[in-house]
Amino acid sequence: MNIVLFGKPGAGKGTQAPRLAEALTVPTLATGDVLRAAAQAGTPLGLKAKDYMDRGALVPDDVILGIVRETLAQAKYAGGVILDGVVRTVPQAEGLRDALASLGRQVDAVLNFDVSNDEIVRRLSSRLVCSSCQTPYMSGAVGDACAKCGGKLVRRKDDEPDAIRNRLEVFERQTAPVFEWYRTHGARVATVSATGSVEEVTKRALAALGRPA
Ligand SMILES: [Zn+2]
Repeated sequence: MNIVLFGKPGAGKGTQAPRLAEALTVPTLATGDVLRAAAQAGTPLGLKAKDYMDRGALVPDDVILGIVRETLAQAKYAGGVILDGVVRTVPQAEGLRDALASLGRQVDAVLNFDVSNDEIVRRLSSRLVCSSCQTPYMSGAVGDACAKCGGKLVRRKDDEPDAIRNRLEVFERQTAPVFEWYRTHGARVATVSATGSVEEVTKRALAALGRPA
């Protein structure tokens, strides 16, 4: 089963991905992780991606999708995958369709984690991250020590209220149409309310996939 997780920044995709992976026994694939892994492995596409990342530039779609395709061809992903944050624009959705088709596969389900904009602003503006290991924290104060590595907790510039509003606008303009695209291209799509506890949201997501916990 190949599943795309979809939702606004701060909707909790990154929290739900490993939980769904465990329940469904399929691995997750997040763009940042596969780009770093490919760069480290020194594959031709990985080195290309590294070149962009080292310059602080966005890695182009064709490079990302090429790496995603190579990654999905690995045995580990043969039984399915949970794609987290891989598809943010309609051209990327089309590129992913082609990459999967070349492996004889397709996107089977798209889960849309739905949260109001007010809730997103509330969540993200209270989020802190460790300045060393990037672990997110939903409580605590700026300057507290990270429980994992002792690094200082900071608020990302991205998580200031104005920046969040801006990210939500980009989502509405570029990413929201992706869900509509899947709806009209034959994938099973489901909207899951992403408010409430982490456990509740996981239960709803599994039910939407026809796999009640
Ligand atoms: Zn840390």
